[in-house]
Amino acid sequence: VSLVDIAPGEATRCFVCGPASEVLPREELQAYKHRHPGNHDGYVRFYCGQHVPAAPALAEVAAPKAARRSRVPGERREPAASRRVAVPERARPVCPDCFMEIPPTGVCGNCGKTLG
Ligand SMILES: [Zn+2]
Ligand SMILES: [Zn+2]
Repeated sequence: VSLVDIAPGEATRCFVCGPASEVLPREELQAYKHRHPGNHDGYVRFYCGQHVPAAPALAEVAAPKAARRSRVPGERREPAASRRVAVPERARPVCPDCFMEIPPTGVCGNCGKTLG
């Protein structure tokens, strides 16, 4: 919907670009009617060509969401599991001789071996 058709008038700004942006002629702006839970008529925002929430863009957003949902279970389990193992090892190195945890000084408190 071109803004000229529904709200002809003076130049205005893209809602996303914000008040600091340049005023654009209405021909370059798109009016987008949002639904509002408290307002039956909703509300209208103006967007430039880059920010207009067009229907194709919404479809693109919805598609990755559906794809993400199916990916999440398998993808997330593995990194979480490997992280749990890796983090304690890095934070607390173990002495190769007596398998005691080595403090940040790098010297084993049990046998005195220097790590590295
Ligand atoms: Zn914009
Ligand atoms: Zn040791």
